[in-house]
Amino acid sequence: MNRVLVVEDDAALRRALAITLRSRDYEVVAVADGGSALREAAAAAIDLVILDLGLPDLDGVEVIRALRAWSQVPIIVLSARDAQQQKVDALDAGADDYVTKPFGMGELLARLRASLRRTESAPNAGGTVETDAFTVDLAAGRVRRAGVDVRLTPTEWHLVEALVRRPGILVTGHQLLAEVWGPKYERETNYLRVYFAQIRRKLEDDPSHPRHFITEPGLGYRFEP
Ligand code: CA
Repeated sequence: MNRVLVVEDDAALRRALAITLRSRDYEVVAVADGGSALREAAAAAIDLVILDLGLPDLDGVEVIRALRAWSQVPIIVLSARDAQQQKVDALDAGADDYVTKPFGMGELLARLRASLRRTESAPNAGGTVETDAFTVDLAAGRVRRAGVDVRLTPTEWHLVEALVRRPGILVTGHQLLAEVWGPKYERETNYLRVYFAQIRRKLEDDPSHPRHFITEPGLGYRFEP
């Protein structure tokens, strides 16, 4: 059974989250502030954290930084619709994903399953990832489309690999730039636009309506298998 830590100061939402998660067989620890969240996370093994960013005591981003100092537990943040910068800060601090309030429980549960899958299948060193349009062989470093090898440049491959290893997970532009080009390039988001246009031309059935390499405007990219 997976144990989920819910951190939300809105009592009605906290209760709704706990009821929904318990009905799906998750074990739930629900708290109303950042200090309690850090204490609970240190006291018992937690498989995933759902974290509201607007908390009465600590900023949610500070909670993420404190957790990330010692834990790789997946963190999904709940953020307000107009809080784009806060969302980016949370993702850069190490949150795995976000949902924007108001959200449907179905959406949150899907994000939660994707995050748990990622940690369970974690060191995905080899293996292949198949979509209806193409197949990525991570061990061999090859992509095939309609039975034919697709030629990707080393940078294109790096980007494809970085996303395909985290199916369903949002990866921020900063993370991708730091991973593929190096930490000095974290602000060069125009690189990503250019390279993802190329990747989509090579791999997507309809590059102008991508189904697998999805842009989340202002935040980053997500691979949907
Ligand atoms: Ca709040």
